[in-house]
Amino acid sequence: MSGLENRLIALRETIDAAKDDLVALTQSLIQLPTVNPPGDGYLAICELLDARLSKRGFNIERVRATGALGDSDQYPRWNIIARHEGRHSGECVHFNSHTDVVDTGDGWTVDPFAGVVKDDKVYGRGACDMKGGLAASIIAAEAFIEIFPNYAGAIEISGTCDEESGGFGGVAYLAEKGWFNPERVQHVIIPEPLNKDRICLGHRGVLWTEVETFGHIAHGSMPFLGDCAVRHMGAVVSAFEENLFPELAKKHTEMPVVPDGARQSTLNINSIHGGQNEPEHGYTGLPSALVPDRCRMVLDRRFLMEESLEDVRSELHDVLEAVSEKRDTFRYELREMFSVLPTMTDKNAPVVEAVAAAIRSEVGCEPDYVVSPGTYDQKHIDRIGRLKNCIAYGPGILDLAHQPDEYVGIEDMIDSAKVMAQSLVTLLKINEGS
Ligand SMILES: [Zn+2]
Repeated sequence: MSGLENRLIALRETIDAAKDDLVALTQSLIQLPTVNPPGDGYLAICELLDARLSKRGFNIERVRATGALGDSDQYPRWNIIARHEGRHSGECVHFNSHTDVVDTGDGWTVDPFAGVVKDDKVYGRGACDMKGGLAASIIAAEAFIEIFPNYAGAIEISGTCDEESGGFGGVAYLAEKGWFNPERVQHVIIPEPLNKDRICLGHRGVLWTEVETFGHIAHGSMPFLGDCAVRHMGAVVSAFEENLFPELAKKHTEMPVVPDGARQSTLNINSIHGGQNEPEHGYTGLPSALVPDRCRMVLDRRFLMEESLEDVRSELHDVLEAVSEKRDTFRYELREMFSVLPTMTDKNAPVVEAVAAAIRSEVGCEPDYVVSPGTYDQKHIDRIGRLKNCIAYGPGILDLAHQPDEYVGIEDMIDSAKVMAQSLVTLLKINEGS
């Protein structure tokens, strides 16, 4: 057996032997309730990661996204970037995990912030999305550094905030400041819970818009003296039902989006508000009789590689114009809130090929290539950082994310840590002489 083969075996054994450490690290991450919104405990989780990684020879930078969306003195947006330099210069592999978790909600049978271990699983809010993935990437990087101390290149591990609320105080801020510049980082793996045998290449596009219809206020007993903005909005919704939804259902994509239902264009009516404001909680009186003079609808349109953002915009505009032609007093405004282009990393990109080969050798199956129905921080790395060589790969079952009794399987974390470590071997070009 060659020296390299022996060291690859040692790499696996080191990760197997780190099982208790991996579980304890996952538990300690879960025990910091970094709930977002509002964005609690970001400094505390950076301190935990700092203490862990600075001991292992990583250089630590903590970056507060001062002035970013959501940042305040009460809830500062802290991020951490830990970088380990190899003995020689070379490429950099970056593992990016978000440190925030969503609110617990109801229905838990265990304490969501205790880090309960039961039946070979770690339970807790953020266990699968994505503190388990963060812990696995740390164990993988540490094992790799132990077995290949003379490697060339660099390894980075970042813990970034606010992914659950758009990532503006996290990866977007860091990308704007040059942290994901392709000159300093060449490969990015985001350990989101996609399952240990799946490589997520990217995500669909997003267009958030707000449509407002206008009417004329009048006494509710004489609606004919007014003009009801809610009825105008009703006509818009009817036009969606008759024309737009059936059209969207016909648009299928070659992108391997999971689940299957998302392999087409989709539109969600996120909210509709018309007429008077809802009464304050505790108000027991009746509403006053008024014809609503304005109605607002928020739309969340998800689109495909095969569609352009321009097409998606004009499709909505055309529906509204068609309604306008049929209704004399119809007046509306269409405002764009936010858009993200679809992104899909090439299957032949180095990071994809390295992780695919590692899944074959460490998990023992063919990788599944998928695309996410919703966006995640890859959007900022792609658009702001201009770094295309990026995927999501990590342990955990996506469907458990944001659910009560969220958990991550310990064996899954071990296996995915082996895949990550083996990917480092490939991407950092380890050979017999390393
Ligand atoms: Zn996540």
